[in-house]
Amino acid sequence: MGRGIVIAIDGVVSAGKSTTARLLASQLGYRHLDTGAMYRALTLAALRAQVAPVADAALEALLSRLRIDLEPDGRVLLDGEDVSEAIRQPEISRAVGAYADLPLVRRAMVGQQQRLGAAGSVVAEGRDMASAVFPQAELKIRLVADLEERARRRFSELRTKGLAISLEQVGADIRRRDQQDLERDYGASSPTGVLEVDTTTLSIEEQVAHLAALARQAGA
Ligand code: C5P
Repeated sequence: MGRGIVIAIDGVVSAGKSTTARLLASQLGYRHLDTGAMYRALTLAALRAQVAPVADAALEALLSRLRIDLEPDGRVLLDGEDVSEAIRQPEISRAVGAYADLPLVRRAMVGQQQRLGAAGSVVAEGRDMASAVFPQAELKIRLVADLEERARRRFSELRTKGLAISLEQVGADIRRRDQQDLERDYGASSPTGVLEVDTTTLSIEEQVAHLAALARQAGA
């Protein structure tokens, strides 16, 4: 088998990016490049080292010595330590945006992601994949879904985890994060050739099957 393609998956909050990307990668035998996990691992390292989210020498030094590995089995390693669970804690979710918004951080992360994607056979997932990281990807997907449906999905996910929260709160939270995303500027122009896939009425299996078909058409 020759070099596989690069599949860039972008999309709105709670559209099922992570699950879809993970399942699609495993179906194709590709790597799953979970770029959110990289920003989360950096944030964990910064909080531990008490490095603030400001563009200074301390953060620069941290970025240059940090080693983040995304293992084929989905584990995330920070300097060799398994931090897969630690990076999903609420304090990381709250802090990650402040680091991810810094151009200094984005430059370092984007460079690393492009190196990881250079060999192909990768499903790269994250909000700037098609616009900034892999504008030349053979397949660029943007996942969207109605707000109500996204809120329902997120709500049942949180309920399964035992969190006491109302559907209204979940909807309001997604609406707020949608707005934040709209206001963010990743320093890249709108990419061409992005296929929008509306997942509102699709099950996760249907979503993955649809993307796998698109991937095969694109040469996977
Ligand atoms: O996808 P996930 O929730 O793990 O991403 C965590 C955070 O990392 C996002 O909320 C966002 O602030 C940042 N991120 C980013 N660019 C990416 C992926 C994630 O800025 N490509």
